Order: sequence, then C-alpha cells, then structure tokens
Amino acid sequence: MYRGDFINNQFVTNELADGEIKDICPARLDDEIGVFPFFRKHVFRAVEAARRAYPRWAQLTWDERKGYLLRLKEVFIQEADRMALAIARDTGKPLWEAKTEAQALISKIDITYSHSVRLIKEEKVEQALPGIDGYIRYKPRGVMAVIGPFNFPAHLPNGHVIPALAMGNTVVFKPSEQTPYVGQVYAECFEKARLPDGVFNMIQGDAESGRALVLAEEVDGVLFTGSYEVGLKIKQETLTHYWKILALEMGGKNATVVWEDAPLEKAIYETLIGSYLTAGQRCSCTSRILLHERIADQFIDRFYQLAKKLTIGYYEDNPFMGPLISEAAIEKYLRFQEIAKRENCESLMRGKVLENTKYKGYYVTPSINLVQSFNRQSIYQKSEIFGPNVAIYRVRTYEETVEIVNATGYGLVAALFTKDRSLYQSALLDYKVGLLNWNRTTNGSSSKLPFGGMLKSGNDRPSADFAIQYCSIPVACLEDMTPFDRSKLLPGVVWD
Ligand code: NAD
Repeated sequence: MYRGDFINNQFVTNELADGEIKDICPARLDDEIGVFPFFRKHVFRAVEAARRAYPRWAQLTWDERKGYLLRLKEVFIQEADRMALAIARDTGKPLWEAKTEAQALISKIDITYSHSVRLIKEEKVEQALPGIDGYIRYKPRGVMAVIGPFNFPAHLPNGHVIPALAMGNTVVFKPSEQTPYVGQVYAECFEKARLPDGVFNMIQGDAESGRALVLAEEVDGVLFTGSYEVGLKIKQETLTHYWKILALEMGGKNATVVWEDAPLEKAIYETLIGSYLTAGQRCSCTSRILLHERIADQFIDRFYQLAKKLTIGYYEDNPFMGPLISEAAIEKYLRFQEIAKRENCESLMRGKVLENTKYKGYYVTPSINLVQSFNRQSIYQKSEIFGPNVAIYRVRTYEETVEIVNATGYGLVAALFTKDRSLYQSALLDYKVGLLNWNRTTNGSSSKLPFGGMLKSGNDRPSADFAIQYCSIPVACLEDMTPFDRSKLLPGVVWD
C-alpha cells in the first residue's frame, strides 16, 4: 500500500529511513492504514526536482498550464470516492463530510480559472509617467513548499497547490504526519494527471522534515496551514531567508455573538454546527458564544438539549461527528476541562471519552462551559483547544462583545446574529478578524472569498481566492517607445 515519496513523477523509496509514521484510523484503532517511512534526503531531492522543473513550467503559457490542471481536475473527479474514503479513514471525519472535501479539490481548479484569475490580470496604466505607459504584470515566484495540517488533509494543501501551479510555480508538498495516506492518494492523482516531471512533488515526514523543507535554500515560498505555534517557528526560522514569502494560515479561537434581536432558532442551529462540526477540529469552529442576557437562558437551554443529541460515530455510518485525531488530542481536550474548572467556569456539559462505540476510537462527547467572569489572562478562555468545546459568556453591551471577541490574540472568524445592520457594520471595524459572518456560523467558507486571519491566526496573506496573489510577484513595467529626445536632457548632462 505504501508507495513512497513522489519525486519527478515517480514514487521512490529507500533502504535507510530516518523514521516512520504508523498511520492508524482514529475512528477504528484496529484499522492500521499503513506504515510510512520518511527520508530526510528526499526533502532535498524533491526541492531539486522542483527547482529543475521550474523554468520550463514557468515559461509555458497560461493556457498550456491550464490544460494540465484541467487534466488533474478530471482525475480528481474520477478519484473523488477514493479520496473521500481516504480522508474519512485518515481523519475519522464522517464520510458525508469527507465527500464535500473531495469535491472542494475539483471546484478549487474551476474557481481559480473562473474567479481568482482576475486578481493577476495584466493591467495597462496609461501615462504611468508623463508620455510613458506602464503595465502591471505578474510572474511566478519559483519553488513553493506547501505544508499541510491534518484536519483538511487534501482541501487545504490543494488551496495552495492549485494557484501555485496555475501561476507557474513548482511545488513540494509535505502532508501532516497524522494523515500520510491522504498525502499519498493526493500524489497519486498527480501521477495519473501526468504533469511534467518535477512540477509537483510530495514527501512524507514529521516536524523535522517540515523544518528541513522550510529551510531549504532553493525554496522561494512557504505556504503553511497549521497551528500558531508552528507558524511562529517557521517565521522565526526563516528570518534571514529574506527571499521567501510566507503565507501562514494558523489557528483560531472564534466567537459567535447572538444579539437580543437575533433570529433565535437559526442562531442556535448555526452555532451548534459551528461549534461541533468535525468534532471541533476546524480552525474556523466556534469556541466562544457571547449571548445577550435577554436571550441567554433560552439559547443555552435549547443548545444544551441539541448538543446532547448530536450523533457521534464511525465515518461510514454518517454520524454528525467522528472522533478526535489522536490520543494526545483527547488528553488535551480533557485537560482543558480541568483548566476551565480551576479557572471558575461552570461546567454545563462535561465532555467525556465515549466508550461504547461500534469500534474503539478516539471518540469524545461535546462539552459546554459557562464563563462566570471574563478574564483575558485565563488560559482556558484564550487557548485554542481544537475539540468539541464551547465557552459561553453572557453580555449586556456591544462594547463588552468587542472586548471579549478581541481578547484571545487570535483573529480568524467571528459570527454575529442580529437584525441590526448598523451593529454588523460596527463589528466589521471593531472585531479583529479576517472573516465576519452575519447571521451565519463561523465555519464553512467560500473559496471565492479570501480566507485568512489577523494576529495569531495569519500573517496578512489570506488564502482561498487570494492565494494566487502570494503565489505571484507583481512586476511594474514602464514601456517607453518614444525616440530619444535631446531637448529633455536633465540639467548637468552635456550631450555632445
Ligand atoms: P500543526 O501546526 O501541528 O502541523 C501542521 C504541519 O506543520 C504538519 O505537517 C507538521 O508536520 C508541520 N510542522 C511541524 N513542525 C514544523 C516545523 N518546525 N517546520 C515546518 N513544519 C512543521 O497543525 P495540525 O495539528 O496539523 O493542524 C491543526 C492546526 O491547524 C490548528 O491550530 C488549526 O486551527 C490550524 N488550521 C488553520 C487553518 C487556517 O486556514 N487558518 C486551517 C486548518 C487548520
């Protein structure tokens, strides 16, 4: 089953591994997906292959590269069921949800060509200087390293890979060590699509492999999706690699505000989905719910009843949510409930390890904590837990919501439920987030819009629709076709 690293359009392996990843399905611990050895020296081989492939790929016309990517789209369509199953097996997320991820791979190619392309459209600027026209043209950057997270192991790397390739960059992709199988299936799609050798490469590996890739001299950009802690390390480690562009898509501690005039049933449903979808393992999940005191009791009561009934189980049975990704994730989830207790939060629903499941896996139940007093120093209130937990706050004024929404250091998504447009318009400015949803939950974004956070959530290089911008360099061109004119010499130039 294991095929190796994908370099120069071939799966390659080696005798002497630097380590290996044991890939086990988190939804069924007796399902051993495979063992994926990794080889540090393959990092450099892959970067070299991408470097060699770059000039020719970059020189192809936009339409020639599009031809290749449309072929890849056909493969994504043919392989959609296999990809969805690989995602479900590797992450434990329900099959219905994994299928939406497999579909997103396909639509990313369409959206890049039908929508994002406008952002890199050549522009003529007449009279950019007196008598001279200017042009804004875009060119690729070179070799892009794409580093993926476990929670959307195909869709999120693909969100960097497609625009990078469309622009004429070449790519080395390292999947998360928690989802190597999806990384392999994704590379198999490229094997079938037959892009030119070295244009797309994939290497398996751990954090150290990721670090080696980031630090490779020949890499021109690092397109990362993962935690703030790792994003920060990448930023620190590449400080002197001045030529590298970094697109860091990092964590969140997202808030939903439900105002007194909110459409309540809708707000409850949307917030429930936002909090617990993917077992809370989305950067865009809701972790904090701010309720206007007039509707708080009604909201909490209904939200609690509904959260209790959410189905949890094996991916093939299409439950609402699957397991957490690992034992370490369970440990973290449970630890944060203790921290919340120590920090005076009232536990309204206690999250537990779920034992009586069809298969043994990393299943937990949802949890809810009521925050007695807002405290920006609280570890519980400011940390990303990445599990099915929400903190509920009661609020009275809009100013309170601004203070709480902005208190964690993260700034990815916020949602606001109200009929009052002026409140929404104020929030647009006051909430420090890169995505603000009005009467819609925090998660479930559009690839036709930018996706990126402020503060600890991102470095101002939003992905999704805008990814094509960081995959390209805008070049300012002054094109002067006027003949030499001696009458316009600058003072002090003697032209004999
Ligand atoms: P992670 O940060 O633990 O790992 C992400 C990737 O970084 C993995 O491939 C890992 O091997 C690699 N890595 C680890 N150390 C490295 C280093 N020193 N140098 C280079 N690479 C290194 O993240 P995860 O647990 O896989 O994913 C969950 C996190 O991702 C959460 O924080 C979540 O909020 C975030 N996330 C953000 C977005 C977004 O778009 N903003 C989307 C999805 C997930």
